[in-house]
Amino acid sequence: MTSDATPAPLVDATVAPDADRATPRAIVESRARRDASALLDSAGLVLIDLDGCLAFANVPHPAARALLDRLAGRYAILSNNSTQTPQGLADILAANGLAVDPERILLAGSMMVDVLAAEYAGRRICLLANEAILAHARESRLRLARDDAEVVALTRDPTLTHAKLSYALESLHRGAALVASNPDTTHPGPGYVPVLETGAILAIFRACMPTLDCRVIGKPGKIMFEAALQRFGCSAERAVMIGDNPQTDGAGARNCGIAPILLGPDQALANIAELV
Ligand SMILES: [Mg+2]
Repeated sequence: MTSDATPAPLVDATVAPDADRATPRAIVESRARRDASALLDSAGLVLIDLDGCLAFANVPHPAARALLDRLAGRYAILSNNSTQTPQGLADILAANGLAVDPERILLAGSMMVDVLAAEYAGRRICLLANEAILAHARESRLRLARDDAEVVALTRDPTLTHAKLSYALESLHRGAALVASNPDTTHPGPGYVPVLETGAILAIFRACMPTLDCRVIGKPGKIMFEAALQRFGCSAERAVMIGDNPQTDGAGARNCGIAPILLGPDQALANIAELV
């Protein structure tokens, strides 16, 4: 008996290759599209992941403008990006044809600097980061240090070297606290080719110090989700998260009581074109 079989979850369904033959993929996709559309229409705030959803390598998806227009001011970009400030990303997106108010952009690397400035003022911080994040840290008056750091802070540092890893590891060995912008080991570039991410650097330190504790700022942690809800005055129950990563976007949203809509080649909805 298969005619009344329970369909896969509609919005964040993973469609197995041999899913119930009585529930053709087209039907699952159609239902997922309808349910996602209803969620977006009723949402007070829609959080949108950047890499793999709204853009690939900062090039907006062809449906990005239409999605933001549909949401008519009820959205914020929530990304584990750790190499840009909101203004810097807004400038890049604008240059690539997508205008977004930087107030509507929350990024893990930039937010980590804000957390460090609020909670670790005056402490010696070894920050592995690119020039944009280092500049934000200097503007935020972080006390940056190389050796004998009290805090080691990780982002996707594109100029990472053996020397940097070594002096950060020495500080951790002496008891420095460890903070990371985000746990992702990769993010999808064009054609879903993986791009090395902050979590891969974190994995190096954990390989050296297996019991190392780390405070993670970005998704799936609650800090960015709650910051977005507070900034736009929306409750978790009325918010929706659009993402492509079940571990960070999906689990992070659920942990905060926010409904996720997952996109990707293994999901019922492939990309944001299904949402406009
Ligand atoms: Mg993503």
